[in-house]
Amino acid sequence: MPEGHTILRLAREHQKLFKGSVLHVDSPQGKFAEGAELLDGGRLIGVQAFGKHSLHRFRPFEDGPPRFDLWLHVHLGLYGKWVSGPLPLPEVVGQVRLRIWDEHHFAQLRGATVSEVLTAEAVKTLQARLGEDPLKSRDAGATSYAKVSRSSKPIGLLLMDQAVMAGVGNVYRAEILFIHRIDPHRPGNQVTEEQWQLLWADLITLMRAGVRAGRIVTTAPADREKVSGPVRRDDAHYVYRRHGLPCRICGTEVLMEEFGGRRLYWCPTCQAT
Ligand SMILES: [Zn+2]
Repeated sequence: MPEGHTILRLAREHQKLFKGSVLHVDSPQGKFAEGAELLDGGRLIGVQAFGKHSLHRFRPFEDGPPRFDLWLHVHLGLYGKWVSGPLPLPEVVGQVRLRIWDEHHFAQLRGATVSEVLTAEAVKTLQARLGEDPLKSRDAGATSYAKVSRSSKPIGLLLMDQAVMAGVGNVYRAEILFIHRIDPHRPGNQVTEEQWQLLWADLITLMRAGVRAGRIVTTAPADREKVSGPVRRDDAHYVYRRHGLPCRICGTEVLMEEFGGRRLYWCPTCQAT
């Protein structure tokens, strides 16, 4: 099932492609025909992710009578999948629940558990319900971003600051900054909310995986020397304790320095900004 951070990436991608555009919406399969009719011709105001739910906010077409904003609510469930790309629209094959497109790009959805149109009030109800989900971590992400974004201290220090967030150890600090290609010296107030939210979502995933496995593995299989089988100890990390060795991604020598009383490991090429 797609995890929260996947939906967050998707929301970011759709924002990039469609934010501000007037969108066509239809439902080749017919299951979302009524919803499509309500949203078609609306302008996309933004896309938000709430855990495994996404909300596309539409402003109905300006030329018509004044109307209220509407939200496209999608929960992908086990089999739901969005695909996007440049026009032309691909030929409809199989069950396409809904499509959105502007003059340049399209996105289409198949197999989602939920696809519906919500009013502002219904969105509020949904969000209140989601607050009780394990995705409390998303709220914590917002709270911690408020602290990070007000600080000119380096992000590498803030991540270890227990007043900002609890529980991020030295391994996760080094690895999460590498995975997101963020220079540990970058001031907190120069990290965007979007970057922080993506980092936060991945951090939660990594930390949960660490709890499950009883060890910390942050590398993707393709980035390991031994790509299959159990993860060898020296294949488990990107930069942590790899100073003097070539970066797995770019080959630059991984550096180490004292930072906040602990050793910090990073790649000056991958994490240049
Ligand atoms: Zn590198």
